[in-house]
Amino acid sequence: SSFSRLGVKKEYIAGLKELGIKKPTEIQEKVIPVLLKSNTDFIGLAQTGTGKTAAFGLPILQSINTSLNEVQGLILTPTRELAQQIKKQLFKFTKYVPERIFVEGVYGGEKIEIQIKALQRTTHIIVATPGRLIDLIERNEVQLNNVKTIVLDEADEMLSMGFKQDLNRILKYTSGTSNTWLFSATMPDEIKRIVKSYMDVNAPRIA
Ligand code: AMP
Repeated sequence: SSFSRLGVKKEYIAGLKELGIKKPTEIQEKVIPVLLKSNTDFIGLAQTGTGKTAAFGLPILQSINTSLNEVQGLILTPTRELAQQIKKQLFKFTKYVPERIFVEGVYGGEKIEIQIKALQRTTHIIVATPGRLIDLIERNEVQLNNVKTIVLDEADEMLSMGFKQDLNRILKYTSGTSNTWLFSATMPDEIKRIVKSYMDVNAPRIA
């Protein structure tokens, strides 16, 4: 399929097909090859409904070393609903992948004790809203020192929902050691400031 031409592994393609994802969208065409091969920051101007979850989700899944019991990917999103949706999508993408990739959701509106328990098992990818993640960091219940990739999904929405300070705190101690992939529908000054402060300003960009 054309996903395999982009570098998506065969074991993912059957799962995608079951979701009705057979032909890459425009953003998937552009983004997947870049994120798969480059050890790089990335800036994507993207609306919702364009297939961006698969555009960043497949590269992040393929980057996970399942023999390590470490959080290697962190996806930050503005809402609990979106976090749950991304987690569910990633799970479905891996339906026919032989090795298990463990994805946990971390968001407000659910008992933190449940999430703490879940994080004590093997976790490779965390999908989080910034506020709850900060809470878990402060309780020392989440280890982010091995994170290789941080995705900021709907970055403009995260800022308009008041997560600016939380986001800055998270990026302050993760962006030095990992790549940041930023997706946003708009690029207000606040976003440009995040790019300037925590990312490679020469990172590849796709509009
Ligand atoms: P997203 O923009 O990632 O929230 O995706 C929006 C919807 O489009 C979701 O229901 C996806 O399952 C679906 N989708 C994503 N990529 C494709 C594709 N290449 N072909 C058909 N549907 C897709």
